[in-house]
Amino acid sequence: MPKALLLENIHPDAAQSLRDRGFEVETMKGALNEDELIDALDGVDLVGVRSKTSVTARVLAARPTLSAVGCFCIGTNQVDLEYAGKHGIAVFNAPYSNTRSVVELVICDIICLMRRIPAHTHHIKHGVWDKSAAGSHEVRGKTLGIIGYGNIGSQLSVLAEALGMRVVFYDIEEKLALGNAHRCATLNELLEQSDAVTLHVDGRKSNTGFFGEDQFDHMKQDAIFINLSRGFVADLDALKQHLDSGHLAGAAVDVFPVEPKKSGDAFNTPLADEDNMILTPHIGGSTLEAQESIGHFVSQRLEDYWFNGSTSLSVNLPQINLGACKGVCRIAHLHDNLPGVLARVNHVLGEENINISFQSLATEGELGYVVTDVATKPSDETLNALRNIEGTIRMRVTN
Ligand code: NAD
Repeated sequence: MPKALLLENIHPDAAQSLRDRGFEVETMKGALNEDELIDALDGVDLVGVRSKTSVTARVLAARPTLSAVGCFCIGTNQVDLEYAGKHGIAVFNAPYSNTRSVVELVICDIICLMRRIPAHTHHIKHGVWDKSAAGSHEVRGKTLGIIGYGNIGSQLSVLAEALGMRVVFYDIEEKLALGNAHRCATLNELLEQSDAVTLHVDGRKSNTGFFGEDQFDHMKQDAIFINLSRGFVADLDALKQHLDSGHLAGAAVDVFPVEPKKSGDAFNTPLADEDNMILTPHIGGSTLEAQESIGHFVSQRLEDYWFNGSTSLSVNLPQINLGACKGVCRIAHLHDNLPGVLARVNHVLGEENINISFQSLATEGELGYVVTDVATKPSDETLNALRNIEGTIRMRVTN
């Protein structure tokens, strides 16, 4: 019976799904350190982690029979992807599963800031009844500027238009404008017309400090600023100055340059005293629905890889999207990306007169992956000959 280990309180649907497919599944609430993980992975075929368990080269080297790692989250920094790829260990994550949750929080932030809800709440808590409409607005008809029109930015675009907002966006890549959204040619074009500016850029290194004094300067008087992307992309000291000077009417920040490691840790930010400010502890994607969706998505990828050899949406192996085997068995052969491996695989099969029912090859960087469904079961000698082809990293045979 194949064995899976799921750490860090992964949604129970993932364990259930793996059990339904015949896995013995052990679950643990917390993260493990390197040594604990090496011990726990004895005899394990698939491991599921979230962000706090580091799957280092040392761990992977100690457990060479591990087949795949599922990151039940968005990020994959906690896994040594290069080592895993070079040793034929597939890594999967859930890049889209919490997109909707982030978008809903941004919509919430926009409405709350435009109605000055944080300021009103503060006043009431301090015994002041201020019913004034000053500075409060409907979002209908206002311009939302979305910076980064990827999974989150583009979905936000659709929901914001449904609320009657006019959407403009800026992206460094060519992107299809959804609905009536307008693409801005420059960042300043977006900043100069937006009543709300929201950041949804990715975490590439070059985005460090990407939104600073100059960008805040270009924003409209009384605009609001929102960042739910990465903490290091926005200069929070510059933001504070623009709030204190009365240039900006409010801000929502969910991500910070330095964040505590775990819930309950102390945290301070210079933005804490701002009037119309929403501060949240990196919870953009933290909903029960998103956790369930991540559990389902990643367990599906792991099962597809285990049973079909499908590497679709793997972050470190060449991607092939595969259905059920079209022959008597499937040979999934991962190798160094050298010339002639496919020909050698076919030659070895041909030697035993084995007909190929289906074959697909993908290469990426230093890796090649060829999946072959065969019409008759190869002998052990043939399978060994396939394993001995120069450059073979790992070979798996499934039905
Ligand atoms: P994505 O990769 O689908 O989209 C990012 C987009 O930003 C891409 O279209 C890219 O071309 C664009 N981009 C990158 N740099 C840019 C720049 N300097 N100027 C303009 N456009 C730029 O990513 P996504 O899934 O939409 O996620 C967006 C961000 O949200 C990521 O940083 C992610 O880490 C973050 N995120 C936060 C939470 C949270 O809990 N707050 C949850 C999920 C994702």
